[in-house]
Amino acid sequence: MCGIVAYIGHREACPIILKGLRRLEYRGYDSAGVALLTGELTVYKKKGKVQDLENFIGGRNTHAHIGMGHTRWATHGEPNDSNAHPHYSTSERIAIIHNGIIENYAALKTHLQKQGHVFHSDTDTEVFVNLIEEIQTQNSCTLEEAVRLALHEVIGAYAIVVLSRDEPNQLIAARKGSPLVIGVGQDEFFLASDATPIIEYTNEVVYVNDYEIAVIRDNKLEIRTREDVKQTPYIQKLELELESIEKGGYEHFMLKEIFEQPRSILDSMRGRLELEAGHLNMGGVRAYEQKFVNAQRIIIVACGTSWHAGLVAEYLLEDLARIPVEVEYASEFRYRNPVITERDIVIAISQSGETADTLAAIEMAKSKGATIFGICNVVGSSIARATDAGAYTHAGPEIGVASTKAFTAQVTVLTLLAMIVGHKRGTLSETKLRELMVELSNIPAKVEQALTLDAEIQVIAEEFKDVTNFLYLGRGYNFPVALEGALKLKEISYIHAEGYPAAEMKHGPIALIDENMPVVVIATKDSSYEKVVSNIQEVKARKGRIIAVVTEGDDVIPAMAEFVIEVPATSEVLMPLVSVVPLQLLSYHIAVLRGCNVDQPRNLAKSVTVE
Ligand code: GLU
Repeated sequence: MCGIVAYIGHREACPIILKGLRRLEYRGYDSAGVALLTGELTVYKKKGKVQDLENFIGGRNTHAHIGMGHTRWATHGEPNDSNAHPHYSTSERIAIIHNGIIENYAALKTHLQKQGHVFHSDTDTEVFVNLIEEIQTQNSCTLEEAVRLALHEVIGAYAIVVLSRDEPNQLIAARKGSPLVIGVGQDEFFLASDATPIIEYTNEVVYVNDYEIAVIRDNKLEIRTREDVKQTPYIQKLELELESIEKGGYEHFMLKEIFEQPRSILDSMRGRLELEAGHLNMGGVRAYEQKFVNAQRIIIVACGTSWHAGLVAEYLLEDLARIPVEVEYASEFRYRNPVITERDIVIAISQSGETADTLAAIEMAKSKGATIFGICNVVGSSIARATDAGAYTHAGPEIGVASTKAFTAQVTVLTLLAMIVGHKRGTLSETKLRELMVELSNIPAKVEQALTLDAEIQVIAEEFKDVTNFLYLGRGYNFPVALEGALKLKEISYIHAEGYPAAEMKHGPIALIDENMPVVVIATKDSSYEKVVSNIQEVKARKGRIIAVVTEGDDVIPAMAEFVIEVPATSEVLMPLVSVVPLQLLSYHIAVLRGCNVDQPRNLAKSVTVE
C-alpha cells in the first residue's frame, strides 16, 4: 500500500511525479504529496486524492528537476494534511516518502524527542526522517551514510526515498519488504512502487532488493547493501504495455478488467495448454514435478480474493491429484506454529506478489524446509523472487482495487497445475485429462457468453441497490465463488454480505432470512445440484428473495427464483471460472448505482504491503 514515485533528470519533475501518482493511486488514496528541490526543499501535500493535490499545487512554484511524490494508505495516524507524506525532518533540511510500517517507531520517537526533535504528525514515517537527521548531526556524515546507519535502527518494512536541501543533486532510496523499482532512462532515472509510472519513459528497470540502498547522483545509479557492499545493478527489460494500464474507453478499470477475462484467461493458458499436441506444460513445475508427485501435503497461503482462488484449488488438487490440501490465511499461518515438513509444498498466491503477510508466510515455511511455489501476476515481484518455483498468471496489470481478472487467472493456473500433477500421479486418467483440456480451452468463449448477461444483471442491480444485507450460497466448487461474490459486494458497494456453504445456512444465517433478504444462490448443474435445489426451497419457505445463477436450460430453479442468471454449462471443476463472472458484474453495477467509487473503494488499497 502507498504509492511512491521519484524523478531525477533533465525534465520538469513535478508533472512526471503527478502522473506517476495517478497511476499508483490504486495503492492508496488517503492523501497525496510531493517534495521538490526548487532551490529550496519544498513540500506540498493534501488530504484526499491526487486531484486534490493538483488543485492545491496549481499556480505555485514547482520548477525542479528532482522530486518525489507519495499517495498514502494510512497505517499510523488518520488521513489528514499533516499526516500526508512527504515528511520533513525537524530542521526541514531532509524530506522522506515511505511505504511500509516502522514497528519500533514509538521508542525511537521518545528518544528523538529527548534530543529536541519536534513532530508534526502521528506517523511512524516522521520518526524515520528525524532519525536520519539525528544520525547525520551526531556523525557529521553524508546523507547516504546517515540513511545507511538509520536502516540498522529501524524495525519493520519500508520503501523510502530521501531528499536533502544540502545535498541537492541526489536521490537516495532503500527498501526492505516494500517494493521499489528504478527506471533507467537516458540521463534520467525514475523510482516507483511498481513499473506503471515508468513504462512510458523507459523499459529498462532495476528491481531494488531488500536491505539495498540506491543512490542516484551525477547521472549514475549506485546500489550498495546496508553493510555498504557495492552491488552491480541488474537491468531488466519490462514487458508492460502502456494501453494495459489505461481505461481503454471503459468507465472504470474494474469493468474493463471484468470484460478482459476471456483474453486474460486465454493468456494464462497460453503455451501451457497445447490441445493439438495433447500436452500440458508449465515451466515452473517441470523441475519440481517429482516433488509434487511425492508431496505429502499441499498448503496454500494467501489473503483476500487470492485465498478464495486457493479454496477452489483445494477442491481441484484433492479431486484431480488426490493430495491433501490445506488453505490458510497467510496472516494466521505465519503467527501460528504450524507443522511443516520437507515433504510439504507451500503454494503462495498473490496478485501483486507483494502481499506482506504472504511473503512472511513464505519465509517461515522456507525456514522449515518446505518447497515454495508462487502464483503471482506481477512479473519480478517480491514473491516471485522469494519462491523456489512458480507460475505467473499473465492476466496483465490489474488496477481496480477489487480483484476480478486476477482471480480467474489464478484459478486457471491452479487448474492447469492440478491437471498436470493429477496426470503425473496417475489419479487423472488420460481420457479425463483430454476432456478437461478441451473444456478448459472453451472457457474463454463461455466467459464471453457470461459477459453478455451484463444488461440483465443491471436490472437486478437496480432492484437490490438499496438493501443493507446480502447472502451468497454455494456448494462444492461454487462455495468459494459464493465467498468471492460476497467479498466483491462488500468491497465496492459497502453492503454487508456473507458467503456461506449452502448447507451451513441452517446452522445460523437462516435466521436472517425474511422477505427483505436477497440470497444469491450459485446453483449450476453439478454433483450437488439436487441438494442446492433443496436449499433454495428452504430460503423460499422463509420468503427470501432468490437470485439464482443456474446452468443454461435449467427448468427447475426458474420456477422458484425471483431472478435467474443463466450461465453456459461446463465441467463441474471449471465452473468457478464462469459462475463468478455474473457476481462480479452484480457487485459492479450495484456499486455504480449507489454512487460508490468503484476503482478506489474507501479504506481499501491494492497490493497490501503492510501486515
Ligand atoms: N506508515 C506510513 C503511514 O501511515 C506509510 C503507510 C503505508 O505504506 O501504507 O503514513
